[in-house]
This record gives sequence, structure tokens and C-alpha cells, in this order.
Amino acid sequence: MDIKGIILDIDGTVMLANKVLDGASETLEFLHQSGYRLVFCTQQNQFSDRMISDRLQSAGLEVSEQEIVSAGTVAVNFLAQNHFASEIYVVGSESLRDRLSTTGMKVLSDQQGETAEVVLVATDSDINLTRLSAAAEAVRRGAAFYVTNLDRGEPMEDRIIPGPGSLALAIAYTAGRRPVVLGKPSPTMVAAVQNRLDLPPSSIVVIGDQPAQDVRLGRMLGAATVLLLSGVTSADALGRMSSSYRPDAVLAGIRDVPAWLDQRKGQQSES
Ligand SMILES: [Mg+2]
Repeated sequence: MDIKGIILDIDGTVMLANKVLDGASETLEFLHQSGYRLVFCTQQNQFSDRMISDRLQSAGLEVSEQEIVSAGTVAVNFLAQNHFASEIYVVGSESLRDRLSTTGMKVLSDQQGETAEVVLVATDSDINLTRLSAAAEAVRRGAAFYVTNLDRGEPMEDRIIPGPGSLALAIAYTAGRRPVVLGKPSPTMVAAVQNRLDLPPSSIVVIGDQPAQDVRLGRMLGAATVLLLSGVTSADALGRMSSSYRPDAVLAGIRDVPAWLDQRKGQQSES
């Protein structure tokens, strides 16, 4: 089936830190003009979808708020739908806590955290032992346990701080229970991107730089997958990869995507 929808990762795919990757702007323009439906699927959870699209636009990329599907927003919507009446404790940013409160949910303070019925772990640049302990105690007492994404590290300006995956693991190890993932790759994220694109999976391709996140999301969705070498994955690491993470195609970067789409079209009209 012809590709009609494209799910793109952001960091390592169209941007690297605050820099637009080579060919990203031209490629997005080409994809929009060619009529592809685009979704930018990101593990970002510290900012609203509006702030994410604003950041991309000010970097020179044509991306609308409606094209963003972020792990933060997916988590907020999931919790509002499934745990609305529950008291929740968040290991994460002020912005994420605010967005949960805005839905009408009761977000507990660090002092009340251990009595929470739901714990959500996300990116937290102010993490400390008080927060980790409150979350671990709540989970140990039986709270539902979620994490936005399993990234080990979060790149800051001059260092990498432990990411949501590492924080969740500390809590999981203390409490003896594993978290449920809401971002890439998870059934919750699959439903969110599918809902947004409203296309059959066989007409969708997922493009990103992380096999364990982007390729696995594509596999769960039943879509084609393209891995880019412009982010965290090196050509070297590809050879050692487990087959469940292996993509349908490997490209150097976003610049090569239009040619890949053309080539695929050619192959399909031949067969
Ligand atoms: Mg990425």
C-alpha cells in the first residue's frame, strides 16, 4: 500500500539539541506539499504540545500544534480518562503537574506523595531523595505506577541527567514493581498516533533514531519503519541489534526520506 501517513520523531530526527538537522526544513516542506499526513511523535513531557511546535517553528521548521503527539500530553489524557478520581503523585516537571491539575485531577505535594493512588514518573530536573522515596512508598503500598518513557538519560546543556527510565527504575527497584509505559513504545501511544492520523497502519511509516522506541512503536502499530543514523544510533550498533528492533530501511538522515518514499512507490507499482 502507498504511504500516506508519516510518524516522525523529533530529537535525533529533525533536531539535535537546539540545531535543525541537515535537510529537515526542505524535507518537511516537501512532505507537506506532497500531501502526506504528518505526526511528530516525541517523548517530550516537560512542555505542552503548543510549546513544542513553537520551539520547532522558531527553529525554522513548519510544524503545527495539531501535528504534535507528545508522551506528556498522552500521559495527561490517559490519566484523566482512567484515573480521574484518584489522587496522583508526579515525579516530573512543574509544567506536567500543572497540566494534570488543569484537567481537574488532584495532584499531591511531596509531603503527601506516599499516600497517592497513582504515581507518574517523567523528566524531573529537580529530583531528590524525598521525591523518589514518596513515589517508591506509594508504589509499594499499591499505587498504579506509570512512566512517560523509558529514556535512560536526558541531555542538558553540558551533561546528561538521569531520564524518566532511570528514575522509574530506582522506584521500581525499591518498591519491587515495574511501571507501565505510556509513551513510545506502548499501546497507549499507538492508539494516540493512530487516532491522530486515522489511516490504515499499512499506509504509515514511522521514522526515528531509536530502535527501542521508534522502530518498536512502528512494529506495534503494524507500520513500516525507517531508522535514521542522525541521532543516538551508530551504523556500528546496527549490526548488534536484536531482530525485533530491526527497521525496514536505514538512512543517514531526514534528507534521504523523499528519495526513499519515491523508491518505495516505484517498487510497489512494479509488483
Ligand atoms: Mg529520537
